[in-house]
Amino acid sequence: MIGAEGPATERCSRAGCTAAAVWAVHWRNPRIHSEDRVKTWLACDEHVEYLRDYLATRDFPVAVTAVGVTVERVAG
Ligand SMILES: [Zn+2]
Repeated sequence: MIGAEGPATERCSRAGCTAAAVWAVHWRNPRIHSEDRVKTWLACDEHVEYLRDYLATRDFPVAVTAVGVTVERVAG
């Protein structure tokens, strides 16, 4: 297990944002991804809502967890 306080190399996925990611936004596009496919964006505190809403408004299944958490699948 790697220490939780390791080098902060995980950055927010929001364009132009260089803040350290503290959230992971897991999602998939039901039209092109099978049910066991999970895409993950990383987000800082400021942008986690933006990214989740961006996906939710497209009717994509979304699950938000702390960064580093692995999600097997995102419920549709
Ligand atoms: Zn950000």
